[in-house]
Amino acid sequence: MLADLLKSNDKIFKLVCGAGNECVQDVERLTYLYSKAGAQFFDICAKPEILKAAKDGINKSGIANDRYICVSVGMRGDPHIFKANINDELCTECGACEKVCMQEAIKDNKINSEKCIGCARCKNVCPNDAIYMTEHDIDLKKVLPELIKMGIDCIELHATSIDDEDVKEKWDIINNLYDGIVSICIDRLNLGNRQVLDRLTDMLSARAPYTTIIQADGIPMSGADDEYKTTLQAVAMAEIIQDAKLPVYILISGGTNSKTATLANLCNIKYNGVAIGSYARKIVKQYVNDADFYEPKVFDKALSVAKNLVESIG
Ligand code: SF4
Ligand code: SF4
Repeated sequence: MLADLLKSNDKIFKLVCGAGNECVQDVERLTYLYSKAGAQFFDICAKPEILKAAKDGINKSGIANDRYICVSVGMRGDPHIFKANINDELCTECGACEKVCMQEAIKDNKINSEKCIGCARCKNVCPNDAIYMTEHDIDLKKVLPELIKMGIDCIELHATSIDDEDVKEKWDIINNLYDGIVSICIDRLNLGNRQVLDRLTDMLSARAPYTTIIQADGIPMSGADDEYKTTLQAVAMAEIIQDAKLPVYILISGGTNSKTATLANLCNIKYNGVAIGSYARKIVKQYVNDADFYEPKVFDKALSVAKNLVESIG
């Protein structure tokens, strides 16, 4: 049970496949690889076909026993529900966006929206302002019952919006539909420290002690580099949650990499685990996208890289 894992002293490695990653092949391969490498917890987007892909990947790894799946739910204003689009009339086909997309979601000036995770890197480098983002909100009342029926271990709400009403509405829906472990992913892009803690206190009033994970998010989708500086905000956010002494489990996320655990330990943070997305996907991307991914000559290299990262969080 996920609850037992959280209660134990084990540090949990959570692989974040991407709350906006709707690519079946990507998710199946990532979950297979990281499950083999020792990751116990997997974060995926809230879609039945992606949940199936994650289950397939984990089952294929042969270690389905101690492996847990969390479905992530975004909300209005949350970058995780954005998708990039190209305005063909403004695009001059310079190729700059394709080079910076870590998801390899852009090819020949076209965006594969299943792969796009809404990070906006492409938008930020476009010299012609030809890229715009659109929001893709989901109907929780429709999607969650199906996912719960299929079998999940956790639901995560990205509670970063400035829209208090939207947060409350989605939080109530989740709590009414699901009585398992839930996770609140929260960052300080829109909220100050006081607002973060007020929101969490409010949300936790609906929950029994130690049935909630706080995913302390530094800077979402920013962990491309393996630097201490990149992970600084993630550790700082975890410290804010820790100092508030809330009855929760803390996972560090948002700018996480192989340096996160070292920095957190130096700062005396008592974290329960680390959730790594951008960096974990980046270091295995060349193998995961290889047509021969399942062949030992490719897979063994990927496994060695993934294992090093998983072991770094101890
Ligand atoms: S750079 Fe980010 S937002 Fe742009 S297409 Fe790639 S994943 Fe999507
Ligand atoms: S960066 Fe902008 S102009 Fe260049 S290919 Fe991409 S969308 Fe087109």
